[in-house]
Amino acid sequence: MTQWQDYISIKKSKQARRYSLRLNHKLRRIDLVVPHRSSETRALAFAAQYQDWIEDKIAALPCAIPFAQGETIPLFDIPHRINIQYEEARKSTKITLQNGIIHVITNQTDPSLRIERYLKKYAKDVLTTMVHEKAMLLGKRVNQVNIRDTSSRWGSCSCEGNIALSWRLMFAPIETTDYVIAHEVAHLKHLDHSPKFWKLCESLSDDYKIGKKWIKDQGHTLMRYGTAI
Ligand SMILES: [Zn+2]
Repeated sequence: MTQWQDYISIKKSKQARRYSLRLNHKLRRIDLVVPHRSSETRALAFAAQYQDWIEDKIAALPCAIPFAQGETIPLFDIPHRINIQYEEARKSTKITLQNGIIHVITNQTDPSLRIERYLKKYAKDVLTTMVHEKAMLLGKRVNQVNIRDTSSRWGSCSCEGNIALSWRLMFAPIETTDYVIAHEVAHLKHLDHSPKFWKLCESLSDDYKIGKKWIKDQGHTLMRYGTAI
């Protein structure tokens, strides 16, 4: 049986003044952040007091969905099943999306990272188009759309007009993806969270309330997809 200690990753931090535990949704582990000079024994003694909390958090994680044969994953609200065809003679992996199936023809025994790379590229194409469509409604120009793999910020907008989004928004319900994009595009006009900003964000969103609530309450579940590395 896995012990609570097996879920702990000790992170020494120069900034940390005290011990803290943080659930890492992507790695499905608990980060134990400790002051730089702390010993491992002291760190684990601290964590031992929160054994129940650690076990509860790990048990409550939604099951992981790897990019593997037969798994079904939603892509912009459309469920897609992964179908991997192994062909030893192939030189490279070929991936196509068709009628709710992600077809993978490959010579790799584990093409999951290749699938992830493909999905990131697909996410970038679709999310970029969505950003430009919304920006056009505002008559604003987007400088650059960048795709990231962040776990706490799903999107951001800089004063230079660069928008960054998590590729994992492709797995969210469409009104959520739509809301996050509306939020960042609204920042092209208002770089704050003033009432004017929220009014504009609402007018650019399909279903602002549902999207906003979902990303706040369920956003962490987007980390369940793919390989935890
Ligand atoms: Zn904001």
